[in-house]
This record gives sequence, structure tokens and C-alpha cells, in this order.
Amino acid sequence: MDFSLSPELLALRDKTRAFIAEQVIPLENDARQSRHGPDEALRRELVGRARAAGLLTPHASRELGGLGLTHVEKAVVFEEAGYSWLGPTALNIHAPDEGNIHLMEAVATPAQQARWLRPQVAGQLRSCFAMTEPAPGAGSDPAALATVAVRDGDDYLISGQKWFITGAEGADYAIIMARTEDGGATMFLSDMDQPGITLERSMDAMDACFTGGHGVLRFDQLRVPASAILGEVGKGFRYAQVRLAPARLTHCMRWLGQARRAQDVALAYARRRTAFGKPLSS
Ligand SMILES: Cc1cc2nc3c(=O)[nH]c(=O)nc-3n(C[C@H](O)[C@H](O)[C@H](O)COP(=O)(O)OP(=O)(O)OC[C@H]3O[C@@H](n4cnc5c(N)ncnc54)[C@H](O)[C@@H]3O)c2cc1C
Repeated sequence: MDFSLSPELLALRDKTRAFIAEQVIPLENDARQSRHGPDEALRRELVGRARAAGLLTPHASRELGGLGLTHVEKAVVFEEAGYSWLGPTALNIHAPDEGNIHLMEAVATPAQQARWLRPQVAGQLRSCFAMTEPAPGAGSDPAALATVAVRDGDDYLISGQKWFITGAEGADYAIIMARTEDGGATMFLSDMDQPGITLERSMDAMDACFTGGHGVLRFDQLRVPASAILGEVGKGFRYAQVRLAPARLTHCMRWLGQARRAQDVALAYARRRTAFGKPLSS
């Protein structure tokens, strides 16, 4: 494999690096952050800056308004964004939206894309991905899925509990994995402001960089029309792989940038700090 980077990609890397240094890192101490991440106002400001720089949602196709990055190109740009914990939020490439955008582009109908995906690519709305459940439900073993979707005329009624749902608080829509009567897993799309959805709490985690934190969600007879099925009935596990295979790797891309930042901080300190009569680095 040829891993050399094209001149265009090197230019995009440098542009992203400068954007993070000049437009994002200065906002790292902004007060609009809590242990559950940057708030919506800060997210919008960051997204606005990336939009003005031409760097918003770069992994989406050009047709949708992105830069149509390949997976190798994502590795370069996402690492640069990850250099600040606010960078992926600014570029609209943080979990779960980054993976959801990828899945929606691959599977959603034109009507679903117009309603949810296009405004999401534009940074105007956020989503969450609701698969994991408390024991004995789905975790490492998604086949333990306990959330059910029961057919009711042209609709489905979804009931169950999910946790670790990143971005849940304040998300505009959810992709929900539930077991349908055929026994398989099916993905459904739903706006989050529905009567059948309760955010029970936000979980405390080691990170504080995802807008909307990590939520515990309860679905109680959530009514979803059949037109809001994402893809086909019974293909939920396959779509989960469409989403999670690249999305697990993009976590690595972003955290690699954060690791480089940590090392740069340590190196700068070792050069600056004097102990026993000489810099630590000596
Ligand atoms: C910060 C964070 C954000 C997340 N965001 C989302 C999200 O947005 N949406 C979502 O749906 N989920 C999300 N998750 C959930 C994540 O996908 C699950 O945590 C993951 O799938 C593991 O499931 P579990 O936590 O139930 O672990 P368990 O299934 O309970 O596993 C516990 C441990 O046992 C190990 N284990 C399991 N089976 C075996 C075996 N056969 N042999 C040996 N060891 C085994 C596992 O590796 C793990 O270390 C998030 C999790 C975290 C921590």
C-alpha cells in the first residue's frame, strides 16, 4: 500500500492544524462546558468557525456539502482535529454524529436524508445512536438486544432501556436498535422530542468532550412510523457494522491527535522546567 500523502492532503492537514491552533484551542477554557461536554451554544460557535474555514463535516460526500474524504484522508484530518478536545466538535466529526452521518449516507432514504442528514451535515442538528443496554441486554454481545419494537398498524411501538448513549441530552434525533417480531434487529429513526422518550440521567464518565454527555434513555411505547425504519427490517446488526467498523477506527484517529497534544505538553514542560541545576530534558 502506498501511504504517501498527496500535496492536496498535506495542504488540508496544514489548514486543519492552523484552524485548530488559531480558532479552537483559544476556546478550550470557555466557560460553556461542564463534565458532560461543551454546551449547545459553544458547539454552534465552534461549528460556525469550521464552516467559515471550509472544514465542516469533511467526511460527508461533496454532494451533501462535505469534502468526501476517504478513510486514509480522514486519518490525517481527524488526527489534526483531535489535537484539541474541542476540535472534533468544531469539524462535526465527533462520535456519534460522525458515524451516524456515515450510516445515514449509506442507508437512509432520500426523504430521511432530507429530514435528518442534510441539516446534520450542515451542523444544524445533532443525533445519538441507541444500541447498548444495561445487563442483561445488548453490550459486547448485541444479540442480547432486549429493546422491542411491536407492530401496531402502520407504526411500531418501541420499549426498552439504553445506556452509554453519547450525545443523548439535547440530541435532535436518535437511531434506535430494537428487536422486531421476526426476531432480528432493526434500526429506527425518531425525533428525540417524542412523548415515549425519557432521558433518565446523564452518566459520569472520564471524558468531558461530547456535547450531550452519555445518557440513560428509556423508551416507553415510543410510536415510530414504518417509514422511519432505517434500511430494511431485520438488518440492524449488518448496519451496525457499516457504522461501527469505521467509527471505532475514527476514535483512534481523534485520540491519536489528543495523544500527540499530551506529548507536546510534556516535551514543552521538560524543556522549560529546571531542576537540579538544569532543564528536565537534560
Ligand atoms: C464513553 C462511552 C460511550 C459510548 N457510547 C455509546 C453510544 O453512543 N451508543 C451505544 O449504543 N453504545 C455506546 N457505548 C457502549 C459501548 O458500545 C459498550 O460499552 C460496549 O459495546 C461494551 O458493552 P458493555 O459495556 O455492556 O460491556 P460487557 O458486554 O458487559 O462486557 C464487559 C467486559 O467483558 C468483556 N467480554 C465480553 N464478552 C467476553 C468474552 N466472551 N470473553 C472475554 N471477555 C468478554 C468485554 O470486552 C468487556 O471488557 C459507549 C460506551 C462508552 C464507555
